[in-house]
Amino acid sequence: MIYFDHAATTPPYKEVTETVAEVMGRHYGNPSSLHRLGEESGKLLDKAREVCAAALSVKPREIVFTGGATESNNTAIKGVALQYTNRGKHLITTETEHPSVHECCKQLESWGWEVTYLPVDADGLVSPEQVQSALRQDTVLVSVMHVNNETGTVQPVAEIGAMLKEKAPRVLFHVDGVQGFGKLPLALDGSGIDLYSLSAHKLRGPKGVGLLYVREGLKLSPLLAGGGQEGGLRSGTENIPYIVAFAKALRLAREGQADRAAKLGALKNRLLRGLMALPELLINTPAASAPHIVHFSYPGMKAEALLHMLEEEGFFVSTRSACSSRRSEPSRVLLAMGKSPEAAASGIRISLGEEHDEQDIDVLLAALKKSVQRLQSLR
Ligand code: PLP
Repeated sequence: MIYFDHAATTPPYKEVTETVAEVMGRHYGNPSSLHRLGEESGKLLDKAREVCAAALSVKPREIVFTGGATESNNTAIKGVALQYTNRGKHLITTETEHPSVHECCKQLESWGWEVTYLPVDADGLVSPEQVQSALRQDTVLVSVMHVNNETGTVQPVAEIGAMLKEKAPRVLFHVDGVQGFGKLPLALDGSGIDLYSLSAHKLRGPKGVGLLYVREGLKLSPLLAGGGQEGGLRSGTENIPYIVAFAKALRLAREGQADRAAKLGALKNRLLRGLMALPELLINTPAASAPHIVHFSYPGMKAEALLHMLEEEGFFVSTRSACSSRRSEPSRVLLAMGKSPEAAASGIRISLGEEHDEQDIDVLLAALKKSVQRLQSLR
């Protein structure tokens, strides 16, 4: 089987699984305990925080470990909303955010906040000008993802950050960086980005661990009340084995970014060339997009049927984002890009990993051609 669903999750590095096993077995002390075993865990935690901070070029005290990016996004958005109610109750986001941002904003609306969901263009993009014109006196936060998890669209987050810094320095800026980190360069320092979410399992780390970068000096309302771990923002005993393994994966993701992007970009172009030769197929991924995601539709063809046929041929792909693929309604992201409901309901996402090579792409294309022909003959 060849795994082409890296935007859903990635196979962990061998180093990651070994680290989890070793740290879990040997360093089980609670980092808050005063004895030697606790101290050892505390040191591992400090070291992991330093490694993550170095990978992001930020300060260790700006890193908050969480249980994944869903938690990081909720902590950032609700944490700001609850802390800065005195500044206003208006947030700005886009129509194509991950559910962990979109549903969080919906929840805040039901609690009395107002949210502007910026529309996107045919490539799934919002512009800094759109963000600027949506700003109000009572806007407290803007949240825009770096790379869209369904289509690979790359939002101009550096430009939005620069605009906010200049025009509205009091408005905070959150970026969901989950699909961008390790694939595209992004400097947080001086960027105008105040909050930045990451998830380990999209970077070949373990599931259930992530981080939130919180710019120094920024205060958030914690979602969890408890023992005050992670600077009071994320109470609960720290998951040391996963955090240590996450730090390793993050360092590798950062160090290999340029080579990975070049390799994935070349494979993606090969895949796109092959897909373009297939009749009736619509490419939904814009020309300028992240190097690891290709999304296409076969209007009129059931995406799930194609997915399972490809699975029979030896390939794991996705119908869209993993967390939405069990829903039957058309993709909210594709509808927002102006695609027809038919196209939005028949999407397939192929997401590449650094272990793939040209031959993997060629055999996938051959299997796709065969599967499509089989499905068309059944119509
Ligand atoms: N944000 C984006 C863009 C994602 O792709 C995902 C994962 O699907 C998440 C957030 C949520 O990450 P996690 O699975 O760590 O909660």
